Amino acid sequence: MAGQKKRVVIIGGGIAGMGAAHNLVDRVGDQVEVTVITKDPFYMTGPSRPLLLTGEQKYERMIRGYEEAAAKGINFVFGNVYKIDPAERRVYYTESPTRSYVTRKENSIEYDYLIVAPGIVFDGSSIEGYRENWHRIANVYEPGRVDVLKHRVWTATKGTVVVYAPPMPYRCAPAPTETAMAIDQVLRYRGVRNNFRIVHVDANPKTQPPVIADVVARLYEEAGIELITSQKIVEITPNEVVLESGEKIEYTILALLEPNRAPRFIAEAGLGDPWMEVRNPTDPRSPKYDDVLAAGDTAKLPFPKNQEIAYESALYASNKIIEELGGQPASVQYAFLGWAYVGNTQGKLETLSVQFGLNFTTQPPKPSKDPEPKRDYTLQKDRWEQSYLNRLFHPKEEQK
Ligand SMILES: Cc1cc2nc3c(=O)[nH]c(=O)nc-3n(C[C@H](O)[C@H](O)[C@H](O)COP(=O)(O)OP(=O)(O)OC[C@H]3O[C@@H](n4cnc5c(N)ncnc54)[C@H](O)[C@@H]3O)c2cc1C
Repeated sequence: MAGQKKRVVIIGGGIAGMGAAHNLVDRVGDQVEVTVITKDPFYMTGPSRPLLLTGEQKYERMIRGYEEAAAKGINFVFGNVYKIDPAERRVYYTESPTRSYVTRKENSIEYDYLIVAPGIVFDGSSIEGYRENWHRIANVYEPGRVDVLKHRVWTATKGTVVVYAPPMPYRCAPAPTETAMAIDQVLRYRGVRNNFRIVHVDANPKTQPPVIADVVARLYEEAGIELITSQKIVEITPNEVVLESGEKIEYTILALLEPNRAPRFIAEAGLGDPWMEVRNPTDPRSPKYDDVLAAGDTAKLPFPKNQEIAYESALYASNKIIEELGGQPASVQYAFLGWAYVGNTQGKLETLSVQFGLNFTTQPPKPSKDPEPKRDYTLQKDRWEQSYLNRLFHPKEEQK
């Protein structure tokens, strides 16, 4: 019987990969053998990373292991995928440097269905001087770099902070704004805000997402944060960034987000470049292969790259397989409610947030927002984030 099960391989044990894995095991568990190949034997959530800057979030609340999901019947392989061969239906990976139970020399796995959900790569190669000056950059996007940014923001005494958002699409549209506002907040708390200039350079015509750009403009005005839009940073030197226009800005702290793209093995397999192509958002199969599907931030979708959309696309991808196996698909639609942290212009380490939403089930998509920053929205965002981690990984005992 086990030999007749369809082998579903999922690349990436993040929000999309784990969402797809649970959906499959929950609905057609007796017909599929689900294997998630993921780089690290743990997952760290993204949305609350900016709160590490203010000390309101702790790493220990953000990390989960895969053991409980494995106990439920999802197989895991820890390794770094470097090649997909869609013609041979095979995925190749290097072993995880820390955890292995594979005795084979050649690390590859065959599939009947493949869901590709490895998220994004930060790619600074288009920026001159990036390679030499990468260590001068810190941002909220990665666990190590957010710690570096925190250290710099809490110890610098004067200068200029440059925050940069690359051209869309990039992961988590409001995160650069969240960064600028959190830095403003910490500098106020430290009583040194007047010693700093904060400049947000944005490659897009407005701060992202556009639905709250007017709210952000108002809050920036109040906080004295300068905004330069429709300008890419094209060069980094040890103490300056150079904009497309030729303008140079001297920086003390550089919180730059690199342009995003899908991992290179996707382009090398002919599945799309810079993002993995899909037939359409509700049928995220590769246009070339019926048995290869995209999910999450790696997919080329006409929507923002965020956790809700990643999860929803994963349900659409796994539903496709469930339907083919005669199962009952999960109900899903593209719509989300989100919260952007907007610091605290009183300089308290109690971050406020703005709520916004986008509903893509209507044409044109329907935006919504509450323009008033509220503390309660920050707490709602925390509950929302923890509920994902509790559901996809395991619940966390909170110490009161
Ligand atoms: C700072 C920050 C703030 C954010 N804020 C918000 C927010 O407020 N609201 C919101 O909705 N979303 C937010 N997001 C975005 C959200 O976290 C992502 O959209 C979501 O995690 C995307 O899911 P994914 O599964 O596509 O990618 P991920 O969750 O990143 O998962 C990808 C997985 O694939 C693994 N992987 C990558 N490459 C390989 C490989 N070659 N081989 C094997 N495994 C691999 C990774 O290790 C990872 O486990 C934020 C993200 C960040 C970083």
